[in-house]
Amino acid sequence: MQRRRCGLHYHRYMASGHCLCGAVTFEMTGDPIATAVCHCDHCQRQSGGAFSVNLIVHESQVSIKGDLKSYIERGENNDDDYVRRNFCPTCGSPITSELLKTAGVIAVKAGVLNDKSSVQPAVEVWCEHKQPWVSLPGIAVSLERES
Ligand SMILES: [Zn+2]
Ligand SMILES: [Zn+2]
Repeated sequence: MQRRRCGLHYHRYMASGHCLCGAVTFEMTGDPIATAVCHCDHCQRQSGGAFSVNLIVHESQVSIKGDLKSYIERGENNDDDYVRRNFCPTCGSPITSELLKTAGVIAVKAGVLNDKSSVQPAVEVWCEHKQPWVSLPGIAVSLERES
């Protein structure tokens, strides 16, 4: 992934993606802040898989076409609004998660990118919920929880 940028404008990295049915499409500019695997129970449930792969970006880096449906999930003690998960209402593909505690920062789901060849997670979080058979190469930082 190219790291070069000019002032506040990123020129080099452009990515696009779409949901399974194609009703939702998006474009993304600029490098992600981070690429993180999340092993939390909620990501496993939403994806139906073992973990989610997330490109953490500023909201302004992503433009989405098409209607999304949202589900707001609360913290583990059901205490506070925590994450808004946005997905295609037709096919159910997860597109983005908004981290409500960190305004302006969203996670784009790597599985809905058109070109996934440059995706390389460097961080994994919520390892306390990691499925026992999962072992990922190339991860620099592994956190039991979020931080
Ligand atoms: Zn769809
Ligand atoms: Zn998660």
